[in-house]
Amino acid sequence: MDLKSYVRDVADFPKKGVSYKDITPLLLDPEAMELAVKLFMQNLPHTDIDKVVGIESRGFFFATLLAEKLRAGFIPVRKPGKLPHRTHSENYELEYGTDTLEIHEDAIKQGEKVLLHDDVLATGGTAAATCKLIEKCGGEIVQCTFLVELGFLKGAEKLKGYEVSSLLKYT
Ligand code: AMP
Repeated sequence: MDLKSYVRDVADFPKKGVSYKDITPLLLDPEAMELAVKLFMQNLPHTDIDKVVGIESRGFFFATLLAEKLRAGFIPVRKPGKLPHRTHSENYELEYGTDTLEIHEDAIKQGEKVLLHDDVLATGGTAAATCKLIEKCGGEIVQCTFLVELGFLKGAEKLKGYEVSSLLKYT
């Protein structure tokens, strides 16, 4: 089964010049989802993982599936104002302007081992900001996992020092 065939390229979405990687066809197919989870699990370091962090919103899908498999807790990292309890925030640069992500400050205990997950690694700004949030909470990042990596945008360079693993690489 070729998982790449379940990722749809949508030209000029959400704006002109962007080739959007739409993972919803993969989510429609239980066998493709099962294979993706199996491959994620095979690529994990041999260590116990306490928490899986998923980034709003498309990171939530596989992060929750992986958390259940790992018998770990799931933590949502969200856009500002969405989390109800006390949060840590992190600003990060976008192509035009800045954005912010938040995490519940009590979601991770000091020294817990954390797996980060998002659907797409593009420029890496989102994942790098999430790494800072996890570390603010006292977590130790054991791996950053992505379904899709847009290698030509060199996002992995923003994640130097962390183990990065992606199932589907586009160069
Ligand atoms: P970045 O911070 O540039 O690595 O962007 C990553 C975030 O933006 C992820 O949460 C993705 O869901 C989303 N994203 C960026 N580029 C794309 C793309 N070409 N297709 C789908 N999602 C994308």
